Amino acid sequence: MHEVKKPRKPLIYYYVIVLLVLLLFNFIFMPWAAERQVKEVGYETFMDMTADKEIDQVQIDQEENEIIFTNKDGSEIYKTGMVDDPDLTQRLYESGATFSGQIIEQASPLLTFLLSWILPILIFIGIGQYMSRKLTNRANGGPNSMIFGMGKSSAKVYVKSSEGIKFSDVAGEDEAKENLSEIVEYLHNPQKYREIGASMPKGILLVGPPGTGKTMLAKAVAGESNVPFFSMSGSEFVEMFVGMGASKVRDLFRQAKEKAPCIVFIDEIDAIGQKRDGRVGGNDEREQTLNQLLTEMDGFETNNGVIILAATNRPESLDPALTRPGRFDRRVPVELPDLKGREEILKVHAKKVKLDESVDFSVIARMASGASGAELANIVNEAALKAVRENRKYVTQSDLEESIEVVIAGYQKKNAILTDQEKKVVAYHEIGHALVAAKQTQSAPVQKITIVPRTSGALGYTMQVEEGNHYLMSQEELENKIATLTGGRAAEELVFHSASTGASNDIEQATKLARSMITRYGMSKDFDMVAMETVTNRYLGGDTSLSCSAETQAEIDRQVVELVKKQHEKAARILEENRDKLDELADYLYEKETITGEEFMKILDA
Ligand code: ADP
Repeated sequence: MHEVKKPRKPLIYYYVIVLLVLLLFNFIFMPWAAERQVKEVGYETFMDMTADKEIDQVQIDQEENEIIFTNKDGSEIYKTGMVDDPDLTQRLYESGATFSGQIIEQASPLLTFLLSWILPILIFIGIGQYMSRKLTNRANGGPNSMIFGMGKSSAKVYVKSSEGIKFSDVAGEDEAKENLSEIVEYLHNPQKYREIGASMPKGILLVGPPGTGKTMLAKAVAGESNVPFFSMSGSEFVEMFVGMGASKVRDLFRQAKEKAPCIVFIDEIDAIGQKRDGRVGGNDEREQTLNQLLTEMDGFETNNGVIILAATNRPESLDPALTRPGRFDRRVPVELPDLKGREEILKVHAKKVKLDESVDFSVIARMASGASGAELANIVNEAALKAVRENRKYVTQSDLEESIEVVIAGYQKKNAILTDQEKKVVAYHEIGHALVAAKQTQSAPVQKITIVPRTSGALGYTMQVEEGNHYLMSQEELENKIATLTGGRAAEELVFHSASTGASNDIEQATKLARSMITRYGMSKDFDMVAMETVTNRYLGGDTSLSCSAETQAEIDRQVVELVKKQHEKAARILEENRDKLDELADYLYEKETITGEEFMKILDA
């Protein structure tokens, strides 16, 4: 998009002006003033100069008992004490000096003081006053806003341009697009809405995990409706000085109203929109900024053509005042893409790269389950980079498959050498997972297992495949998932009769799952449908906080252990029953380092 920015005079500009004034003062004015200063000399110098006729004017000051005189061209002023000298008048007359009693202008001590002290102070006070007036102007929304760039909204303005982002560039996210297309329609023809008396929401909140295309959607709305697009991040409002953020908000809205119809996009709004919890020592600047935002949103009448879009991945942390009707009253979820969405996103990004004809996006989309739009864009780019590294002219299916692993599990670690025994343990561990998964029908079969160490630290890697979209999971499926997670350790115990550190991630995941089953999904017989935990940030990792008594916590812990233990035993049983297959598959993986889902099933079914 085409970006227009107003030029802003930088801070250094003002410093340079002050410095120049000071230099001018010191190098030109002060020497001139000093020149006019009186030089004190001995009486004999006065006598010599008189004799040499080098004196122009003389003033005899009887009261002060001194003689002040100048040289011939008047550039220097001298002073000497008076002595009893009766011939003085005669000699002066002969030397041709003027001594008519005319007062020689000399720099008085007062003037010197004024020039060297008071004047600089006045200059500084003047500059200070000027700056503070500018700042106050700014805070009051005045027109001159350049000083220090403080309080000036630095919203980037995108104006309509032919290569602007359109809805077609945002793949998947059909519901969000449908929701937002109403805004586009409104911006094209606000009159239609006014006639009926319908009012558009002032603010729309785009909510979803990072990298799902919230910013893109906001830009697409502006692109589709051909209106200016003001974009600013929540954190940009928060300045060092209290009150500056608020004035930035005012400035942003003033600009927006001038350009209406237009779209204002505030990214990461949670940076300013967090709940005001009244804690002592709270963040004054943030709260003032938020208050200003609330006031501005109330201030402009509906249907004036300014639509505010905001994005966040922590909607639960937002202040209720911000989300009430009349402000951000519409919430558009922008979720992680489903299978079809992933395929479409891959296709959109693949348009930019040269592809081999054999590439099958549905397989890639299946493999990259849970990936966000941004990750999918990254996968395509990594594949293209790999093709360049290998001097090929186009991207192949295997490039894409390998890049999924790169994006999800990191690069292959070239110099990590596993000992023979370690490699065997890792092979059994990974096959343990896969075998337990395959034997429990509901669990997804594996796509590929590798035991090449990755830069992420994983020694082996099992890529599970999603057959379709899953929205609900039954208790049995969840239990099976836990069993699959414990399958790795179970295999190690069965074969080597010892445990290794390789299972730490599995343990973490299994525990998390078991805990959620008991505290959030109501899958424990003792607690019925009582929520023991609440999710605090759904889109960022899904952290939870406990809300129950200490005794209940102890009971929950006991039940979590029981649940995981039961599934661990189940996994061990499955592996024991299929010990020959376990050995065969682990040997295969140990030899080849990679086994695909098909090869796996062939050996299992043989
Ligand atoms: P968010 O604001 O939700 O964190 P962005 O809109 O900044 O995410 O998306 C980051 C990048 O991910 C985009 O530049 C784009 O390349 C890619 N992307 C994300 N979602 C999509 C999508 N639905 N369709 C196409 N590209 C997408």
